[in-house]
Parts: sequence; C-alpha cells; structure tokens
Amino acid sequence: EHSTPARHVPEHDDLEALDSSRAHPAAGGAGHYGAAGPAQAYVRITRGCNKFCSFCVVPMTRGMEQHRPPDQIVAEARRLAARGVREVTLLGQTVNHYTWSDDRGRVTTFADLLRRVHDEVPELPRLRFVTSFPRDFTDDALRAMAGSPRICRYLHIPAQSGSNRLLKAMNRGYTVEDYRDLLDRARSLMPDICLSGDMIVGFPGETEADFTTSVDLLRYARYKNCFIFKYSPRPGTAAYDRFDDDVPDEIKRRRNNDLLAVQAEINLANHRELIGRSVEVLVEGLSKAQLRRQESEQDRGCEVEACPPLPRDASDDRIVQLTGRTSGDQIVVFDGPRSLIGGILPVEVFAATPYTLHGRLTHAGAVEPAPRALQVETAGSGAFRLRVLNAAS
Ligand code: SF4
Repeated sequence: EHSTPARHVPEHDDLEALDSSRAHPAAGGAGHYGAAGPAQAYVRITRGCNKFCSFCVVPMTRGMEQHRPPDQIVAEARRLAARGVREVTLLGQTVNHYTWSDDRGRVTTFADLLRRVHDEVPELPRLRFVTSFPRDFTDDALRAMAGSPRICRYLHIPAQSGSNRLLKAMNRGYTVEDYRDLLDRARSLMPDICLSGDMIVGFPGETEADFTTSVDLLRYARYKNCFIFKYSPRPGTAAYDRFDDDVPDEIKRRRNNDLLAVQAEINLANHRELIGRSVEVLVEGLSKAQLRRQESEQDRGCEVEACPPLPRDASDDRIVQLTGRTSGDQIVVFDGPRSLIGGILPVEVFAATPYTLHGRLTHAGAVEPAPRALQVETAGSGAFRLRVLNAAS
C-alpha cells in the first residue's frame, strides 16, 4: 500500500532503509527496532507492488513484488524473539499478497506464513503486519488471525474512497461493497478487531456526492484511526497522465478537515467504550507529555545550575508518564516507572480523548514478564505506589 501508519515507518524510503538496517550493528544483523527500542522489530516479507493504483509511484520506483522465503522469515522472527523482542511487525506494501513457492512447488500463502510464525515462534508475545490490500484478504488469512491469539487484533486496510466510480479510476480492483464485506467478515470472526484505513480526498473528478460516500464509509468502518491524504499528482503515474487535478485546493482542504472531524468523533466513541476496561499494552516509552516535561526541566537546568540532571537509566524507579499500545494499536498513557518499558502489562482505562486512552496499572503481575519485578503498594482511594525490586530480590 502507498502509506502505512506513522509508527509503522510510513514512507517507502524508510521501508528501503529497513533492509540496510539488517546490516547495522545496532540491529544485530536482523530486523529493525521500533519505538520500544529492542522490544519491537520489523521484518520485511515482501518488496515492491504489482497493483498499479493510478495515483501511486511505488510499482515504478520499487519494482514488481518480490517475496522472501518463509524459512528465512521464521528464522528471523525466532532470532529476534530470542533477543528479547516482544513484538514483530511483518512489512510489505501489500503484505497480505505474500506467496512463496518452493522448489517442489509447495506454496506458502500469507495465511500459512502467519500460522508458521505464530506457531513456530511461541516465545514471541505479539505479531503484527502492515499494510494489507483489501482485494487480497482471504477468509483463510482472517481465520489464521482469529485462530492465533498472539497475532494482534489490528488490520490496516486502506479503502482510499467510498465511491465506486473513483475506486475504478484509482484502479483499486474492488468495489465499496467488496470492501464493506471484508470489514464484516473480519468483525464476524474477530469482534474485538481494530481496523484502520486510508482515504484520499480531492482525487480528480471527485464530486460532493463522491465525497459523501467516503464519509459514509468512514462511519460504516468505525476505524480506530484513518490516515487522510489530499490528492496530489505524481509524475509517472496513470492519474497524472490521464486526469486533470481539477479539485481546487480549498475544497481538498475542507474535505480533509471534514473527514478528520468525523474520524475524531468515531475515535472518541470507540475510546469511550473502553473506559472501565482492562487492556493489555506493550510499553513503548515515555509519553509525549513526559518528554515535553523533561525537555522543559532540562531547558530550565541550563539556566539554573542547581537543577539536577535527569536520570536516564532503567533502574530509575521514579514514576513517570509512559505510553503503550494495545493489541489493537490504541495508544494508552499511564503512570509507572520507566523500567516497565518493553513489558506487556494490563492497564485499566479511566479516561479517553479521540487520540489517547488514559489508564492506570491494575496490578503487579505483568501479563508477560516485564523487564524488572514490581511491587505495588496501594495507598487508598485507588492510588498506588510502585516499587521496583532489584534483581536479587
Ligand atoms: S497497492 Fe496501490 S497504493 Fe499500495 S503500493 Fe501498490 S500501487 Fe501503491
């Protein structure tokens, strides 16, 4: 797909960089680490794309689709898990179009690959993949997800438009009815799945009626988030050659803002449903608010020499605001010591905004072992204090 969610390395140039990262000593020769440092890693399984969507340069710049042998992928996931990685994301522009035929003609489909990585690397707590192409999502792949509890309940499946006329002009190869059917099938097998999408506004010839169909699709999909792009013509693409970029920029901007507003409403409604529930998060690091707080403390430290430097080592057990992701890719911020980074923990959600869930740690037992042992001391009225136990205890 042309784009992938921000944290999943959105640009194709970055996807390219992932391959060279394998040779980088910091990556230990395998995978590419994500936001939680060595707790998350990316493994490319396909490169290039054969879809030729009319707006996209990828087939020209990255070439035709090529796939890696499944044994290599499984071995890489196993090596990463042995190194302490908690979450592996399989990468490809159209990741679910993965297929491999060995010398004896035995075919490994994407569904087979998911089952292999899940079953043959049981020590890996989380497995994800991005980005999927709607037309290629088979029931078998959905069943592989549904039957594999450590595969994250998250699907990024860009629709790009709710208008069949525009989907055809984009050369997407599916109708909005096909797309809705895929969402229905995914939800019927995995009621807890979180879906995300991409939409383009202002594609050549997009009328107000076309745009309304995209709004309708957004409401139908109830995405956990949607990446919205204003169309811009790319030389070398079919759309550049065939169509005038005839939607004025102010209309593109307005449609972009309208879709963002609809999506924010949906986000908030989705998030509110989680209030009072316990969710499991992989702790990725300090929250943005905590980082800003630290930066401002450091800035003040430049002016006031007495201000002590901020400790950065994992043994610091002061409570900070951390950020984590659920299996469905929702962001949760909560207070805890930084030694929890890289752990998978239950967090109870108590508040929600359109883009963030606010939670609190519920108990000491990490779902998967956290980097260090914790002791929680309750201090009445729901407050708690966390004590990090040293390795000897
Ligand atoms: S599926 Fe379409 S949008 Fe995605 S990379 Fe391929 S050509 Fe580009």
